[in-house]
Amino acid sequence: MGNKHAEERKPSKPKTPTFLLELPLMTDAGQAARLGAHLEAGRQFYNAVLSAGQQRLRRMRADPAWQAACAIPRTQPQERRAAFAALRERYGFSEYAFHELARKLRVSWLAEHLDAVLAQTLATRAYRALNRVCLGKARRVRFKSKGRGLSSIENKRNDTGLRFVLQTHDQGRGQGYLLWHDEQLRALIDWDDPVVAHGLAHPIKYARLVRRRASSPRAQGADRQGERYVVQLMLKGLPHHKPKHTIGTETIGLDLGPSSVAIVPQQAEAHLVPLCAELRPDAHAIRRLQRKMERQRRAANPEHYDDKGRPKKRGKGAPRWKQSRSYQASRRRKATKERKLAAHRKSLHGRMIHQIVRTGNTIITEKISYRGWQKRYGRSVGRCAPGMLIDHLRRTVASTGGTLHEVPTRSTKLSQFCHGCGTFVPKPLWQRWHQCPCGVGPVQRDLYSAFLAAFLDPADPIPSCARYVVPWEGAEARLRAAHERATQRANEGQVMPRSMGISRAGARLPKSPGEATQELLFLSSRGKVEAWKHRPEPPGLQPGESSAKLSQSL
Ligand SMILES: [Zn+2]
Repeated sequence: MGNKHAEERKPSKPKTPTFLLELPLMTDAGQAARLGAHLEAGRQFYNAVLSAGQQRLRRMRADPAWQAACAIPRTQPQERRAAFAALRERYGFSEYAFHELARKLRVSWLAEHLDAVLAQTLATRAYRALNRVCLGKARRVRFKSKGRGLSSIENKRNDTGLRFVLQTHDQGRGQGYLLWHDEQLRALIDWDDPVVAHGLAHPIKYARLVRRRASSPRAQGADRQGERYVVQLMLKGLPHHKPKHTIGTETIGLDLGPSSVAIVPQQAEAHLVPLCAELRPDAHAIRRLQRKMERQRRAANPEHYDDKGRPKKRGKGAPRWKQSRSYQASRRRKATKERKLAAHRKSLHGRMIHQIVRTGNTIITEKISYRGWQKRYGRSVGRCAPGMLIDHLRRTVASTGGTLHEVPTRSTKLSQFCHGCGTFVPKPLWQRWHQCPCGVGPVQRDLYSAFLAAFLDPADPIPSCARYVVPWEGAEARLRAAHERATQRANEGQVMPRSMGISRAGARLPKSPGEATQELLFLSSRGKVEAWKHRPEPPGLQPGESSAKLSQSL
């Protein structure tokens, strides 16, 4: 599809920087029940808009004019855009038309729960979800189920409807309330926290109410259903910078892998570190819980599996899946573990980012398709979330006045380049070292790419030999030292991803006969002479023995 965009654009106001502050809310049982009812109305309304919008999208795509518009070559962008815009206009597939739709759908009892602006923001949300499908960025939309419910709702402004007010007393310290309908929900404000105090000193653009599931109804701040409510304030300005987070001036090359990162500044010390290694045990625990849930599901639903234990195809009229109590308990436990893991990962990312920014805030890295990575390295990408790390880094760097340059991989091909001879030689995945006949290396490949990135010109990101001659003098030793330190840590017992080219301390050498044969085969595929050299003398053929048996005994 990719009709790169046919949305009507209003001359919009210049965007001001925004940052977010989250405050927990205190709710009593009555308030929680009423909030739940409002959110449930929001959920039904969202589903209604999404369903109506989906119909519009389907009808639009079924129109022969859609095929015709898709057939317009991309070399004629204006015609293409006009064709898609006309289609969107005819079928009412635009944010504006969705707002109209929301106005029509917000009737009777829904209107009591949702004010017009909240209905609009929900319609915008539904439109964005469907537009992703329309642009081919998503395959389908998700309706919000009753069990999960709607977990957040937001306003556009802070003067009517859902809004946050601050009642300041002396010294600027006061109480904050989230107002919605007739509810007043008190926020817990820790004025001694500089982040909170900094945030509340800024004008509020709008507020968002978020419902989070706690681990159990007995968890701190949770209501009877085990829900917690927080308010997120969108504030105008720049986020707080802790004084301990100093900002450096260097230019840094970054090479991000699915589970490791190489950081090479132009002058300072280089680093090769695993990404989120601390999360490994938690990820394993989650994996164990997943297996447990699978067993529990099987035990409770034998009718859903055939005699070989394969899940049966689900048709209409199939019996419902049953959930045992213990299954539900495991599911809650797993959800809690996952929430904790996500929070832990975020803090680890933050720590790494501040370490990077301490050295410098001009960062050059190759632009990577994280979606492609997800397919190839699903597990480590899921655990380490490198795409999230880059997004977080981009925001942090921008808020300190620096830039994150993402250079296109296709033109730079840093992982293939050698600055000594200027050639591009692709390395297979297992080859973790860059060593070139021209005399460059051996050097760990991620460190080497990061070094190449550090000295790129972001305006013209084509690596050239001349650029690297002088920097290489000093860098070689730094890169080696970085790898040395990583090896040291591995020897101390820290688990390193295999991609870093470090064998684990105390790793067992291949001993089993299976592996030994493999080695022999590997040798013989390389060169017969070499392979034969290590072979014992072939035993003489006994009478009655076939040569086939002989070859077996070898
Ligand atoms: Zn070379």
